[in-house]
Amino acid sequence: MTEEIARPERPLFTDLTRKGLQDWCESNGVPSYRVDQIRQWIFGKRVNSFSEMHDIPAKVRAQLAEEFRFWAGRIVRHLVSSDRTEKLLLELGEGDLVECVLMREPDRCTVCISTQVGCGMGCIFCASGLDGVKRNLTTGEILEQVLRVDRLLSLEERITNIVVMGMGEPLANLRSLLPALDTLNEKGGMGLGARRITISTVGLPEKMRELARHGTPYNLAVSLHAPNDTLRTEIVPTNKRTGIEAILEAAEEYFQITGRRVTYEYVLLAGRNDGPEEAKQLAKLLRNLNAHVNLIPMNPVAPIDLAAPAEPRTKMFVEMLQHGGVNVTVRKRKGADIDAACGQLRLTELSLGK
Ligand code: SAH
Repeated sequence: MTEEIARPERPLFTDLTRKGLQDWCESNGVPSYRVDQIRQWIFGKRVNSFSEMHDIPAKVRAQLAEEFRFWAGRIVRHLVSSDRTEKLLLELGEGDLVECVLMREPDRCTVCISTQVGCGMGCIFCASGLDGVKRNLTTGEILEQVLRVDRLLSLEERITNIVVMGMGEPLANLRSLLPALDTLNEKGGMGLGARRITISTVGLPEKMRELARHGTPYNLAVSLHAPNDTLRTEIVPTNKRTGIEAILEAAEEYFQITGRRVTYEYVLLAGRNDGPEEAKQLAKLLRNLNAHVNLIPMNPVAPIDLAAPAEPRTKMFVEMLQHGGVNVTVRKRKGADIDAACGQLRLTELSLGK
C-alpha cells in the first residue's frame, strides 16, 4: 500500500477537564495524585511541553506526549503596545485565527479572550462579525489563549482578571466556555476567583438564565448599545429576536440568583446612539435596576463607517446618565497603536470586509 494512512489528530490535552484527566490516569494505572501535579505544571508553572514536568515519571510524560497535543495552534503575530498592552494572533487549525489581549494596570493583569472564530451576531460596528461565524472554539482552545498570554508575563506578574470580550458570542458557546472558566477558577488550576472573571454577551436571555444556574457566579456584562428596540435592532441585529425587555428580565434574574450586579456595555457611535434623547431613555430604562453602565467610545474599524463621538458629547452623555440616577464609567482605551480592539488584527491579516 503506497498511500499514507492519515493519522487522526491527537486530542488536545487542555480539552480534558480535571475529571477527564482523572479518568485517563485511572485507566493508565497512574496514581490520582498526579492529576493535580500535571495540571499545576500547565496552569501554574508555565511549561510548554510534557517533557518539562520534572516530577512526573518519564514514562507517563512520554505517554502523554504520544497521546495528546500540548498546544492547539501557533502564534502568528505578537504585538506590544506603547502602554504595554500585548496582543497575540493565534492560528488554531487551518486559517482559524483568533485574538487574545493582555492589558496591564498597576494592580492587575487582565486577559481578554475569544470564544469563536468570527462571530454570528453582526453588530454593525464590530470587526469580528464582518464575515460571520466559522466555528466554536473548544475548551482547550479557549484555555490556550490564557496560557499563551501567561507565558508572556515576567516571573513577578500574575494574571488577575479574565474578560470574555474577544471575538465571538460567549453564550453561543457555553458548552466549551464553562469548563474552561471552571478550570481557571479551580484552586490548583489558575485559582482566579469568580468575581475576577467577566463574560460579555450580546444578550441571549435563555443562555443568561442557564449561566445564572451554573453555580459559579461569574460577572456578566450585557452589550446593550441602545435604549429602545427600534434603534437596538438597527445596531444589534439579533435584537429582533429577543427585544430589550427579555434581556433586562434575564439580567435581573442573573442578579437575584448570583448576587452579581450586571454591567451594561454601551458603545457610543457618533450620531447614532449618543444623543440627549438616548441618554434620557437609557437612564429611565436602567434607573431602577441593579445596573452599572460602561460606555465604550467606538474603536475605529477600517471598513466600517462609524466613529466615536467627540469628547464633549461623551461627557454630556455621562452626565445625563448620572443625573438620571445611573452608575456610569467610560472605558479606557488600551493598545490603540496595535489594533487591540475586538477582531481588528485578524481583520488586517485576512483582509476581511474589503
Ligand atoms: N459578543 C459579545 C462579546 C464580544 S464583544 C458581546 O456582544 O458582548 C465585547 C464588547 O466589545 C462588546 O460590548 C462589543 O459591543 C464591544 N465592541 C465590539 N466592537 C467594538 C468597537 N469597534 N468599538 C468599541 N467596542 C466594540
